[in-house]
Amino acid sequence: MDGGYKKCKHRPRQRDNYIDRELLYEEPPTRKLVKHEGFNKHERIKDLRKQLDSNNQLFSQLKLPPIEGFLRDGKKAVCAGCNKNNRFYCLNCLLPNPNHPLPRVRLPCNTVILHHPQEKASKSSGLPLVLLSQEVNMVTYQEDMLEELFKAYSEEDTYVLYPHKDSITVTELTHPPKNIIAIDCTWFQTNTVLRHLEKAKKFRYVKLQDYETQFWRYQNHGAKALSTAEAVFYFYREFAERFEQGYHHQYDELLFLYVTNYHIIEEYHKGGKEVKPCI
Ligand SMILES: [Zn+2]
Repeated sequence: MDGGYKKCKHRPRQRDNYIDRELLYEEPPTRKLVKHEGFNKHERIKDLRKQLDSNNQLFSQLKLPPIEGFLRDGKKAVCAGCNKNNRFYCLNCLLPNPNHPLPRVRLPCNTVILHHPQEKASKSSGLPLVLLSQEVNMVTYQEDMLEELFKAYSEEDTYVLYPHKDSITVTELTHPPKNIIAIDCTWFQTNTVLRHLEKAKKFRYVKLQDYETQFWRYQNHGAKALSTAEAVFYFYREFAERFEQGYHHQYDELLFLYVTNYHIIEEYHKGGKEVKPCI
């Protein structure tokens, strides 16, 4: 895989034929195989120590409820959906643990997390968003059902959040969209999802400015390829600058569980309190 990556470093592969090409392979991330029980042996995540030791510019700007208190307080609870014990929330049923109250964010658009069934819920950064806002809903991707699943979504009012080669920026939007679709799958699955979605509906695409991901899971699309949670957050931050009176932290809490999981993994790798990562 290393060899293959180097070989096609400057040449977009077939599976990338929807992406805005300039985003590809600009800054290959550092990577290191980090073994711990939350990740299988084939999964690479970034050099966490290096990343965690550097100043995290995004996280230091956010106004969030105290993460330490959230991690320290509250007890495990049995999920009402599946009867399994969970510490913070149940990702299979998308139900919160009542002992751990979560912030709730009001969003100006209906937000769909189009989740690929082969993407493990426990590895998804997008699914926890459902727990944080009533405007965020999860739709499970099914190849033959996309037209039916998105029947209620008009092509005028709906944008797919993706750096598609035909996408426009948030500042180019002429009116606030009613629906935003974020594709929640690995970068390897994205091309297939986009192809089927395009057949089912002629949704337009909106892309973000350039940001660097803080996601701990490894992907080889470079540092500018964002996780689902980051992409949704940055969309609403840009949305506020475009359609509201600027950004005043009104959507910061969308990243509450993302930052919480980041802290858990940080602790885990620093050899501190051993909390098994949720994601
Ligand atoms: Zn459950």
